[in-house]
Amino acid sequence: MTDVAGVETRSFDTEVHQLLKLMINALYSNREIFLRELLSNASDASDKLRFEALTDERLKGLDQDLAIDIAFDAEAGTLSIRDRGIGMNRDEVIENLGTIARSGTRRFLESLSGDQRKDARLIGQFGVGFYSAFIVAEEVTVTTRRANESPESGVRWVSDGQGEYRIEAVERPEQGTEITLRIRPEHRDLLTVWQLKRIIHHYSNHLAFPIRLHKPAAEQEQESGGTDAKGKEAEVELVNDSKALWTRPRAEVDEDEYRDFYSSLTGDPEAPLSWAHHHVEGSQRFSLLLFLPSSAPFDMLINRDEREGVKLYIERVFIMDAAEQVVPRYLRFMRGVIDSADLPLNISRELLQDSPLLKKIRATVVKRSLDLIEKLAEQGGEPWQKFLEAFGSVLKEGVIEDFEQRERIAGLLRFASTAEDGAGRVGLDQYIERMKDDQEQIWYLTADNLQVARTSPHLEVFAKHGIEVLLLTDRIDEWLVGHLNEYKGKPLKSVARGKLDLGEKTEPNAEALALAGRIKKALGERVGNVQPGRRLTESPACVVADDNELSPLMARMMRQAGQDVPETRPNLEINPDHALLGLMARVDDDSRFAELASLVLDQALLAEGGELADPAAYVRRVNALLVEALDHRLSDPAASAAS
Ligand code: ADP
Repeated sequence: MTDVAGVETRSFDTEVHQLLKLMINALYSNREIFLRELLSNASDASDKLRFEALTDERLKGLDQDLAIDIAFDAEAGTLSIRDRGIGMNRDEVIENLGTIARSGTRRFLESLSGDQRKDARLIGQFGVGFYSAFIVAEEVTVTTRRANESPESGVRWVSDGQGEYRIEAVERPEQGTEITLRIRPEHRDLLTVWQLKRIIHHYSNHLAFPIRLHKPAAEQEQESGGTDAKGKEAEVELVNDSKALWTRPRAEVDEDEYRDFYSSLTGDPEAPLSWAHHHVEGSQRFSLLLFLPSSAPFDMLINRDEREGVKLYIERVFIMDAAEQVVPRYLRFMRGVIDSADLPLNISRELLQDSPLLKKIRATVVKRSLDLIEKLAEQGGEPWQKFLEAFGSVLKEGVIEDFEQRERIAGLLRFASTAEDGAGRVGLDQYIERMKDDQEQIWYLTADNLQVARTSPHLEVFAKHGIEVLLLTDRIDEWLVGHLNEYKGKPLKSVARGKLDLGEKTEPNAEALALAGRIKKALGERVGNVQPGRRLTESPACVVADDNELSPLMARMMRQAGQDVPETRPNLEINPDHALLGLMARVDDDSRFAELASLVLDQALLAEGGELADPAAYVRRVNALLVEALDHRLSDPAASAAS
């Protein structure tokens, strides 16, 4: 709708409206991030100008002395942020500030569900973007002009964030964008030099452009005791340290500077676990600053394609977030900066693949990251525990994805084990050290969870022999052992697969074989083969997979993931020494024997954490037995007194 000539009132996208309401509530206690967001937009716009100036003749010279200026008027309650960056034309303003096509904001909206809405810390990790201005502002005015267009093509956008915005054409001699906030009365405490400097230091100290704070005359008056400040121009102070930290020699940067830089780079309120800073010289030169965070963003496991962590610069001009060609997926938790003067400026994700420099960078990222993790493992203690908890599962993907580094990554993994209780974990090297003299394999058991694993019947014979078994309960572990057939020459072997030979030479006797044959006959198609074996000491039976068959757990996971997995018939290993089987051998009635055999099979499946095809039938059988046993006892008190 056009009111006056050139002034148009438009409605926000409905999504924007919804977002604004959510945003203001969710971020109320985190209000200061609005300044981080506006400053980082100003910095992005300045980066973009520099970048476009490399190829656009019209922008030549306009990319000099770029800076961001902040001014405020405490009395009027206004705060403005001005950049000399790329700016926007009318269509871009409508597209960028009136719809929610922008990815950062969309992700934010999508992530706001249930409890997360209350968790301001999580939300603070997102780039929530321009709209965060409305957390503190009752009205926002954006005046902007695209740097390569004429002064007449300026645009002004005004909104109170309530559903509509006004847009009009204005003349604007300066390139770039000025955003003016009319701050709500309850947030006007932010409008002091001290507060603004504090917030800028906290979030934006290392922004690559100078941030200049214009002190209003009134504040100067206070500072100088109210004497000769009258009539003074606003004084300007450079607030941040815009010399990109990663370009400085390592010896000149102290620990606090690294920590501050990390916090302004990531918005993570926690300090990083460690970091690595290198300047690689030679024919392919680049700088690399990598951080190992101490906790995981909550969507890291799901978002395997997330690549926000490591930023790629060409001589301090931000180019893009590093893609998989630079940081492998299994290191997607790493944060940092890579800067190289030798990257081609017209680089695209497709071109990345063929660049030998990027191959070198990637190899360095992998090496330096694994160095950091190894060092952390050596030092042990709480930081190492934190790492394992946050990123242990992600690192496992490396064993599957990175053939070259397989053994090195495998050495960094830690697993629960029968020789560790509670939260104790063991690595493969330590496992090998603890192996028995004649032990050749690294034994493991996969299960849905630690509880099922610890009580698995498969462990009985290992406990008897005092052999340690790794307990793998991460979803990814089945894939992991599928790719890691051996470690340092020792084969990894499942306790639940194939023939088990722990040096016991006794062959099964004829009765045991006959009993197994009878069970197979009774269960028919429901089982593969039935064999007497040596795995069990306390349970009557367990399910055993063939050496090259999908394990039941893997089959279950694949089905849950919607894949078509052919039904396999479980093989049953029975324990002929078990009292139940001893008694079964004496049951003559075939149909009664078949009922008992069904129970034995179902119990073995349940002990694996598996599901029964017909749980109701299992319950019926157990109840029938209970009734029979109780009935027997109650009607023959002598028998129960004797027992
Ligand atoms: P994001 O920064 O995540 O893309 P924002 O909501 O912060 O989302 O901004 C939306 C878009 O508006 C930006 O992508 C950018 O194109 C544009 N924009 C915001 N601030 C500026 C600015 N100061 N100068 C030029 N463009 C800007």
